[in-house]
Amino acid sequence: MSRLASGLQRLRRSSSQWEVLWSALASCGLVLFSQLAVAMVPRLVFIAAIVLGRLWRRFIGVAASAPLFVLFNILLLWGVYVFVIRRETSSLLDMLINAECALLLWGFYRILSGDPGIVACDSSYLEEAGCKDFVEAIYSSEKLPMLSRVRQCTWCKANIRGYDHHCPAFGTCIGQKNHRLFMALLTGFVVAESTYTMCSTKYITRCISSGTIRSENPVSLNIVISTTLFSILQVLWQIVFLMWHIYCICFNIKTDEWINWKKYPEFQMKEQPRSDSEVKFVNPYDKGMLCNIREFLKPE
Ligand SMILES: [Zn+2]
Repeated sequence: MSRLASGLQRLRRSSSQWEVLWSALASCGLVLFSQLAVAMVPRLVFIAAIVLGRLWRRFIGVAASAPLFVLFNILLLWGVYVFVIRRETSSLLDMLINAECALLLWGFYRILSGDPGIVACDSSYLEEAGCKDFVEAIYSSEKLPMLSRVRQCTWCKANIRGYDHHCPAFGTCIGQKNHRLFMALLTGFVVAESTYTMCSTKYITRCISSGTIRSENPVSLNIVISTTLFSILQVLWQIVFLMWHIYCICFNIKTDEWINWKKYPEFQMKEQPRSDSEVKFVNPYDKGMLCNIREFLKPE
């Protein structure tokens, strides 16, 4: 539990227990309200959900926490499945979807409490590199091998080895140590939401075709429809995101490096007669697809 506590601590730096509680309430409320908003159809309600989120931040002073929003969404989908959809699904599919949800929660806990690959600020590194501070050492062209691919996260101000990006949904940086878990979780979300969509679509079509639509509780049917729409939207953007990460792994480049390559000297091809405005991109870490995938799976 202490690891989860430290994860939550990291999640909301300099926040008291009350703030975490308020944040949890805000996240839970927003999940229920936004799902209800989609369920009850009028677009005005959906806009009201966004306004409510903004107002909450202004008056209570604590924003809803993205990781808690994700957590309550998993719990809501699982809850809707167990209490509404479950009786319509086969036992094999039932086992599969329950296992997927449990695995997601476990992975979520692991990524929240795990270390992304934080590099401690050691003064001996600085002396060796002849730099004033750690950031200068990171951006220096004559980089120390021990600081290879160490970047600073602008959100956490932490120095992370193999830094890819800061993930607000998981409330943590994605670095060398948790990149594989991140990919597994992202794939897990796509698979779980697809399975959920499959089960819920079956439930909805059976409700409509068998004419039980009137006898069925309209709120529960609406919630199934709204969570299905939500899952489809999630799967769509997550697949794009997943493909991007697969591309990055195959070419051994991190999202941060791809965006900020001009900040890192090792990506700039130096051609003597050329001026600074014509700096070309070169990836010194790209060793061919197979080697890149192997390096991702087994980093040195
Ligand atoms: Zn970060």
